[in-house]
Amino acid sequence: MTETVFITGVLGQDGAYLAEQMLKQGKRVVGGVRRSSTANDWRLRSLGVHDDVELVDFELLEYSLIHRLMDKIKPDRVFNLAAQSFVGASFEQPLFTSDVDAMGPLRILEVMRAVNPDARFYQASTSELYGKVMETPQTETTPFYPRSPYAVAKAFAHYMTRNYREAYGMHASSGILFNHESPLRGQEFVTRKITLGLARIANGTQDVLELGNMDAKRDWGHARDYVAGMALMTEQDEADEYVLATGVTTPVRDFIDMAAKAADLDLEWNGEGVDETARDRKSGKVLIQVNPAFFRPTEVELLLGDPTKAREKLGWTPTTTIAELAAEMTEADLRRTRETDVAF
Ligand code: NDP
Ligand code: GDP
Repeated sequence: MTETVFITGVLGQDGAYLAEQMLKQGKRVVGGVRRSSTANDWRLRSLGVHDDVELVDFELLEYSLIHRLMDKIKPDRVFNLAAQSFVGASFEQPLFTSDVDAMGPLRILEVMRAVNPDARFYQASTSELYGKVMETPQTETTPFYPRSPYAVAKAFAHYMTRNYREAYGMHASSGILFNHESPLRGQEFVTRKITLGLARIANGTQDVLELGNMDAKRDWGHARDYVAGMALMTEQDEADEYVLATGVTTPVRDFIDMAAKAADLDLEWNGEGVDETARDRKSGKVLIQVNPAFFRPTEVELLLGDPTKAREKLGWTPTTTIAELAAEMTEADLRRTRETDVAF
């Protein structure tokens, strides 16, 4: 019988890639979509899978809706990818973020315990759990020190997933995923903000790109690789927790240089702190400057993951380097903004 996979947050970056992968494997894919006044299926469209995913109304805040859906869909696997996923916004919306990102996964787990305890569950945990890092590189055993309402909410969900696994024997896994990006990344995240901003600058429709802390370092991989790792976790005999990361960390500033190169811009850096700028060597114009509005009340300065467990137990390895990722994202944004500047 065809396996049914239920993906919450299917219209997000990871949801779209995971749906694509599951469809390629011949699964029935049901995707949960939050009610909204405007259609937002551009990612599924850009992967050419929007006609193949069964979209259903889904809201992490609605226990009874989740109950009805689980009863009706009877999924074999549930991937909980839905979240208020932006750290920056979580400082302004801590209550909402907690209701969605902490209580949301608990609602699903509670429904599954009652309705379909044999289905497999994946929770989208995050390297933000490490926050003010206690050791480097970070592994599955590194203590957590969350530094934002987003990370605190995700920590609750992470421990709940573990508790449902241990208390009720549910096949509930968490992937502690380090940052993963792609041309389908949301524009509020720093990589996409950079590639879109530089593409617009290269195409003459934007003058300056304003950013926050360019010293922050992240372990960035490609989302397509990371959804493959999520699927592998749900295919193991035993549920567990795994770090997915590349093992390479890069400052925001270096990512900017990589993206600038792909946009054929040659940057010259000057100054420090809030006065730091990058000029275009050819025109002498300032293209990058700091805006403290993008600083966070508490920052995560460095993330670097050790994916040894995932490599050894899942056979998972990332395939895309940071330079390849920056080039792919920038080229996509150059294409999108070249003529009509219709970039989502
Ligand atoms: P996105 O923000 O691209 O996608 C999240 C999706 O969740 C969106 O489609 C959003 O809907 C949906 N959503 C938000 N709130 C609700 C709600 N209350 N009910 C139902 N759906 C909701 O995130 P990503 O695809 O990048 O990430 C997927 C998951 O992985 C998230 O949980 C994220 O926190 C986590 N994660 C991501 C990492 C990354 O680097 N990308 C790293 C580690 C963890 P709408 O389109 O309506 O906004
Ligand atoms: P996060 O790791 O989930 O918070 O992913 P982001 O892409 O939002 O941020 C990555 C890092 O880039 C963080 O340390 C931010 O403080 C830093 N950063 C610097 N400037 C910006 C900016 O303008 N926007 C965002 N989103 N992040 C920025």
